[in-house]
Amino acid sequence: MKKGRPRIPLTSSTRYKVNSNGCWVWKLKHRTHSGFPEVSDKGIPKVATRIFAKEIKDIKVPDGFVLFQKCRNRSCVNPDHLEIISKAESVRRGNASKLIKSEVVIIRRIYANGNCSQSRLSEKYGVSQSQISRIVNYERWINL
Ligand SMILES: [Zn+2]
Repeated sequence: MKKGRPRIPLTSSTRYKVNSNGCWVWKLKHRTHSGFPEVSDKGIPKVATRIFAKEIKDIKVPDGFVLFQKCRNRSCVNPDHLEIISKAESVRRGNASKLIKSEVVIIRRIYANGNCSQSRLSEKYGVSQSQISRIVNYERWINL
């Protein structure tokens, strides 16, 4: 380590609190613009989950891939709760919960017209085909 003030390790347990799900919940205010925990590594902001995965589990994330929190807790930095997925997959999962009501209504209308398959709708709206299936079969958003 370089000379100067001793640094608190980036993965120090003082930076998070373990909750009942086993999530390591980030305690600090530092966040990326998308709300993920962020650490400053010698002045360079880095996504904390990547640092935790690398330092604790020696997991390196290849180009084009991102870490995904399996527990769906954005603030969690527990490497055991992380999974490496492609960026495309991450968009798909991220958007899955972001469909808005008006889109659900339109998806049902288009599908009911019969000239657009579930897989085409899945591509168009960036959600999984199984989610489209649940939408058009009224297993989700049943009140719309
Ligand atoms: Zn977690």
